[in-house]
Amino acid sequence: MIHEHDVVIVGAGLAGSRAAVELAANTDVAVISKVFPTRSHSSTAQGGVGAALANEEEDYPEWHMFDTVKGSDYLGDQDAIEIMTYDAPRTIYELEHMGVPFSRTPEGKIAQRPFGGHTRNFGEAPVRRACYAADRTGHVMLHTLYEQCIKNEVRFYNEFLMLDLIIKDNVCRGVVGMDIRTGEITVLHAKAVMFATGGYGKAFKTTSNAYASTGDGMSITYNAGLPLEDMEFVQFHPTGIYRLGILITEAARGEGGILLNGKGERFMEKYAPTVKDLAPRDVVSRAIYTEIREGRGIGGKDYVHLDVRKLGKAEIELKLPEIAEFCKTYLGIEPSEELVPIQPTTHYAMGGIPTDYDGRVIKDKNNTPVLGFYAAGECACVSVHGGNRLGTNSLLDTVVFGRRAGKDIAQYLRSAKYEPLPDKPDGGAREKIDKILNGKGNEKIHVIRKEMQEEMMDKCSVYREEKGLKPLTEKLKELRERYNKISITDKGTTYNTDLLEAIELGFMLDNAEIITACALNRTESRGAHTREDYPNRDDVNWLKHTLISKTDKGFSLDYKKVSITKFQPKERRY
Ligand SMILES: Cc1cc2nc3c(=O)[nH]c(=O)nc-3n(C[C@H](O)[C@H](O)[C@H](O)COP(=O)(O)OP(=O)(O)OC[C@H]3O[C@@H](n4cnc5c(N)ncnc54)[C@H](O)[C@@H]3O)c2cc1C
Repeated sequence: MIHEHDVVIVGAGLAGSRAAVELAANTDVAVISKVFPTRSHSSTAQGGVGAALANEEEDYPEWHMFDTVKGSDYLGDQDAIEIMTYDAPRTIYELEHMGVPFSRTPEGKIAQRPFGGHTRNFGEAPVRRACYAADRTGHVMLHTLYEQCIKNEVRFYNEFLMLDLIIKDNVCRGVVGMDIRTGEITVLHAKAVMFATGGYGKAFKTTSNAYASTGDGMSITYNAGLPLEDMEFVQFHPTGIYRLGILITEAARGEGGILLNGKGERFMEKYAPTVKDLAPRDVVSRAIYTEIREGRGIGGKDYVHLDVRKLGKAEIELKLPEIAEFCKTYLGIEPSEELVPIQPTTHYAMGGIPTDYDGRVIKDKNNTPVLGFYAAGECACVSVHGGNRLGTNSLLDTVVFGRRAGKDIAQYLRSAKYEPLPDKPDGGAREKIDKILNGKGNEKIHVIRKEMQEEMMDKCSVYREEKGLKPLTEKLKELRERYNKISITDKGTTYNTDLLEAIELGFMLDNAEIITACALNRTESRGAHTREDYPNRDDVNWLKHTLISKTDKGFSLDYKKVSITKFQPKERRY
């Protein structure tokens, strides 16, 4: 079956929904999503969205820009960061007018709270920059944008899994997908396609990410012969619930929570004397690991405590109700009275599909665009986060660059037409599905997935070194060979979750291999990428973006210049 739409957006999270809202009034736009739109991962975002509104204290976009550049360990592109941080206040008011119910100050202004790495006056002290709706910020933003989409009659294909991307002669012509409810394969022929498919956190054992965060868009782009950028930079959030990885938002520390080691000491004073527990995530995650390694975990185990007791029950119920619920449900803990056990958890993809700041996917270091192909949100790399993302900047990234991509697509459509589809555009997707459904091997997907997730967590997380990354490369090769010999039990067409999981495992294996190859290649420590065998940042050799592409013999690497405008790289101190 073939459907035609001017624009097909893959992903109904914040980035995809924001682009759809931008386009809906004048364009035939379809959004496809493998989960129901409001169940997209964006709905889990808790703590806030950054903007220098100065509602609670003095603040300026320039300070926001500086913090983001410094937080990125100087790998973020400063032209893109400037666009994002200066557009942030307008973006927030726009969301407010669409209906996002932000929390309020007593005078009725949008309330703001401090977040890691956000400071006043170029690093002097933490600043209140995160606009929030209790600890359900992503949830309310996503529901508001979804309502706007419905109002504007965006066509949704829900529970529809994208399998392939159609690009010919450098022009994107559509995607191929499967209706999960019926197993039917459909080609969506379009003048422009946008990916907003989110991150790959599920490739790791401990993660804050949703089940659907399997990095599909990145894998499909890579397999279409296009590069991915800075894939070695994986963010680990310091405060995942011990063993489960479920997130305790940084807002818990923004509101006054502190970290304590096994001796009951507030250890962040040692690692970041100025901002302490509100240092950026890479700094806090390394500090926690260091405490644990030096025997100061709780009872010698691999976790530390988050202490929010001094906030009191009423304040917690008002500002962090969801977190309080998580603690009660998953740990049986009342956070106003007890300490919360936490450890770093895989959280966010800083790298992804390279784009310019209008969301146009680029295919080389000279920023050559692929016509009609766009990406935004966590699957994309603009790059505003560089080596390490500051909390609240992802939600901002989705809505600023989702909107910009929508605007550019509208412009592109003025002269674009439906380019002919190649012969058998769905051939690759059908072959892939047939192979899985007819597989007769002994390998089981849940076993391969578990081994991959454990190995990635063990050898490619907060600390990395050649000694671990090389065997990991071999292990992933072995898992890939075993993946080629899988068989699944359900051979049906209706809601075949066995098939879905098998396909997603293929995407995750791609991402795991790519992340590992890039991590092995970058012989320095920068942002979230900490090589124990190369502990220093090396601006002479490595102040550059990595581009990794698929070749017949495996992969090839290339590099792209970092855009440096206002702020020259210097040592990061907090
Ligand atoms: C617990 C948690 C708390 C967070 N809190 C904050 C915060 O307070 N502030 C902040 O700035 N950031 C936060 N983040 C990060 C932020 O939420 C995400 O980075 C952001 O929401 C990603 O949005 P997105 O639109 O790019 O993708 P997502 O919201 O992940 O959406 C991806 C979409 O793509 C679809 N999709 C994927 N693959 C396919 C496929 N093959 N076929 C069809 N559809 C597909 C999915 O169905 C989904 O609709 C948090 C993250 C987590 C996990």
